[in-house]
Amino acid sequence: TTETHGAPAAGSGGAQSAEAAGAAAGSRNYPELRLLIDGAWSAGAGGRTEPVLDPATGAVLGHVPLAEAADLDRALAAADRGWRVWRDLPIEQRTGVLRKAAGLIHARAEEIGRAMTLEEGKPLTESVGEAHRAAGQLEWYAEEARRAYGRIIPSGPGEELSVVRVSCGPVAAFVPWNFPAGGPMRKIAAALAAGCSIIIKPSEETPASSVLMAECFQQAGLPAGVLNLVFGVPAEVSAHLIPSPVIQHVAFTGSIPVGKLLAGLAAAVMKPTTMELGGHAPVVVCEDTDPVAAAKACARGKYANSGQVCTSPSRFYVHESHYDAFVEAFVAASEAVRVGNGLDEGVAMGPMANARRREAVHELVEDARKRGARVLIGGELPDGPGFYYPPTVLVDVPEDARILHEEPFGPVAPILRFTDLDDALERANALPYGLAAYGFTDRAAVADKLVRGFEAGILSINHCGGSVPQAPSGGFKESGHGREGGAEGLDGYLVTKRVSHKLA
Ligand code: NAD
Repeated sequence: TTETHGAPAAGSGGAQSAEAAGAAAGSRNYPELRLLIDGAWSAGAGGRTEPVLDPATGAVLGHVPLAEAADLDRALAAADRGWRVWRDLPIEQRTGVLRKAAGLIHARAEEIGRAMTLEEGKPLTESVGEAHRAAGQLEWYAEEARRAYGRIIPSGPGEELSVVRVSCGPVAAFVPWNFPAGGPMRKIAAALAAGCSIIIKPSEETPASSVLMAECFQQAGLPAGVLNLVFGVPAEVSAHLIPSPVIQHVAFTGSIPVGKLLAGLAAAVMKPTTMELGGHAPVVVCEDTDPVAAAKACARGKYANSGQVCTSPSRFYVHESHYDAFVEAFVAASEAVRVGNGLDEGVAMGPMANARRREAVHELVEDARKRGARVLIGGELPDGPGFYYPPTVLVDVPEDARILHEEPFGPVAPILRFTDLDDALERANALPYGLAAYGFTDRAAVADKLVRGFEAGILSINHCGGSVPQAPSGGFKESGHGREGGAEGLDGYLVTKRVSHKLA
């Protein structure tokens, strides 16, 4: 059956029924999974693989090959060579390759989106949209590559003092499963625009989107070794790549504990890092706003990607004068969310991406319930296959409930009250997270107070805004450091050189 999966020959099996389901899934065009090293696709030196599951059914979609140390060494050598070729290409040529790859990704967005829905669960329209947005990110960075400006600093006659910014070298990048196209592209686009090469390890749970995008880069004429795509045992891969003298920058998106681990590995060899970690975004709904409109906007934001978004609104502080109206509208909006297989038309929320996540979310809900919270809707594990969890609204949540301290990363909304705005801001800022924050108010002065007061790197006022290529995203406090997107997104991949030139 390994051929049916399109998996490498030494595929590790799984239960018979899962194999049969995998064969069925294979016919739904889940692509062949391979490593891309030095411009060539391979199955990995050791033949180890891991099954990839469809979260809507639990069926095996395919098998992802896992890299061995020998594969990683080849990737390191290739990235070193690829960087030297890529950084020295004329900027027009680099920009041209990146734009061509973006065009190919746009053209294959339906195919990438379908693979993404199969492996991650989000509704097909979201997946296809994400593939287009990933291409848009690449288009934007292809142009930003031309603007990696240095500067001239005034100095005496007969000498010139300047600052130049050049690519830092090969990058090691690690990205999670929640945005299988957008996550990897944020790192690939900025690193390649800066003139770096990259070894990227997307999540083994959602490998196909990256494989298809990497094919587009290949087809666009990216030189060998500039983009290397590996999968593996995450801790093995990071422990091998980060200390290598080839790697000059480490970029990670994922949980805070893993971020700290990788930042520690990088610190031991004095390497700079970009860390895009978890969040627990507060929402402050003020007394001078329409609570029903705010609740509708918040519910849309909350249930996007089943709440598995680092910037997902996750603690709702509502002014007491609006509390009942907000809760009622939020529950109504939650009821209206059609949950189902992301491939089915009209589905607004798919399953959770994996069984682990669903369990973790349910534990947080159970903990809150035990401590006295009321579950107004949802909160029960559904029967049947797949990793579904329903839209869930909690009220009367005590302050010591775990869900008010730990990132929920799921479709759960704890709604709390406040009377005084300063108090709400204090509660909003009380956690070690500082990624996103949301405010709803009709008064500019209140919005200004929120913007200044929130300790977070991504702020939205009167809506739940998403990321765009031209603006930076990133966190404060334990949510990480460095920025992705915007001109700032190039910073991590460039080194600054001071040049003083005595003119002959
Ligand atoms: P996790 O902490 O086990 O893994 C997070 C990611 O890091 C995964 O992609 C995993 O493959 C990778 N990883 C784990 N150990 C690694 C290592 N030693 N070296 C390199 N990579 C490693 O958590 P999970 O169960 O996959 O996700 C749960 C939590 O992760 C969520 O609660 C959320 O906090 C966080 N998360 C954050 C984002 C984000 O966008 N910031 C995305 C996904 C998950």
